[in-house]
Amino acid sequence: MVADKAADSANENHDKLDVLKSTQTVVNKALDKLGYPSEVFELLKEPVRMMTVRIPVRMDDGSIKIFTGYRAQHNDAVGPTKGGVRFHPSVTEKEVKALSIWMSLKAGIVDLPYGGGKGGIVCDPREMSFRELEGLSRGYVRAISQIVGPTKDIPAPDVFTNSQIMAWMMDEYSRIDEFNNPGFITGKPLVLGGSHGRESATAKGVTICIEEAAKKKGIDIKGARVVIQGFGNAGSFLAKFMHDKGAKVIGISDAQGALHDPEGLDIDYLLDRRDSFGTVTNLFKNTITNEQLLELDCDILVPAAIENQITEENAANIKASIVVEAANGPTTLDGTRILSERGILLVPDVLASSGGVTVSYFEWVQNNQGYYWTEEEVEEKLHKVIVKGFNAVYNTAETRRIDMRLASYMVGVRKMAEASRFRGWI
Ligand code: GLU
Repeated sequence: MVADKAADSANENHDKLDVLKSTQTVVNKALDKLGYPSEVFELLKEPVRMMTVRIPVRMDDGSIKIFTGYRAQHNDAVGPTKGGVRFHPSVTEKEVKALSIWMSLKAGIVDLPYGGGKGGIVCDPREMSFRELEGLSRGYVRAISQIVGPTKDIPAPDVFTNSQIMAWMMDEYSRIDEFNNPGFITGKPLVLGGSHGRESATAKGVTICIEEAAKKKGIDIKGARVVIQGFGNAGSFLAKFMHDKGAKVIGISDAQGALHDPEGLDIDYLLDRRDSFGTVTNLFKNTITNEQLLELDCDILVPAAIENQITEENAANIKASIVVEAANGPTTLDGTRILSERGILLVPDVLASSGGVTVSYFEWVQNNQGYYWTEEEVEEKLHKVIVKGFNAVYNTAETRRIDMRLASYMVGVRKMAEASRFRGWI
């Protein structure tokens, strides 16, 4: 009996951390609030297409290693699917599915002509050589080539993938397709048809959301105390942008630990010393844990690392008045509820991290036109798009008296549901 109870509670806990389940729960609620019949949820609760591939790679020691990869295409009613490819040891089929749904929601919120897609490969790029990574990237493209393409599904960078990996993937696709095809993938190096501002776009989008949220809360960014969890692409650029705007970045972290200085950290020094995977805390003795970092006394907290960081265990101890999710899925549904009950303004992931896919869209448009924009043009357009998305979500939350997460799902899911209806799918 006792054992059963323990098993039940372990299952319940597992469900709460199941990102696909919690995404489906909110999608269902959002569709219900919008008045859609249950078939719409039946269609949207899973990707329309999901491919699992096995990728053989010859390793440097001469052996062959087989990697598992995925590509999920959530819904292509609005347009081609779009989303990054992550290289990480903890990638699972469920996670990739959830991430593809989040991409659909992001595209809906910032009104891009895309559905959501996502890819992942189970691997640890920190332990692979350049040559092995090239083999893996090319092998992945060969394996998924039939279902991707500039008018079908457009990959991009995500956790532990970068412009070099995009370049190899683009080259491989162009070889298969037998012509130069830059619009197949975004996040490319500038010389291969990348866009100005793409590398820092996620952090730029987060910065714009922080500014809008701070206005609502009457907080001045100058002198505001900011804590950032994660020092990867989003976290490191964000630390720089916040620092440049006069905020005090008092805490940062990476996978190995966290740093805290109530007077403000030396961000330029940390950026200079971080390695290409965003690790820097190993150079310091006086570190705190990632758990302690999240509970630091601050004004703005930005989880920019991984999933399930703010939960029912620690949400009551968060001291920030604004939480902006730069990572995908850092707050559980219980965490969301507790933050919202406490009056903390939560800017959800599908809104806060939509800057990356927005500039990816700009990159794809430039590739299609063969005409390239200046950095200023990209920035100005990005600013307009994110502010509009922020206000759409904020106003929905206010008028419907619901939390920002549910509001973001309502805004994000509407276009895709309507497009699926017009096409006669549901
Ligand atoms: N991986 C990023 C995201 O999760 C960017 C996707 C893209 O640029 O297509 O939003």
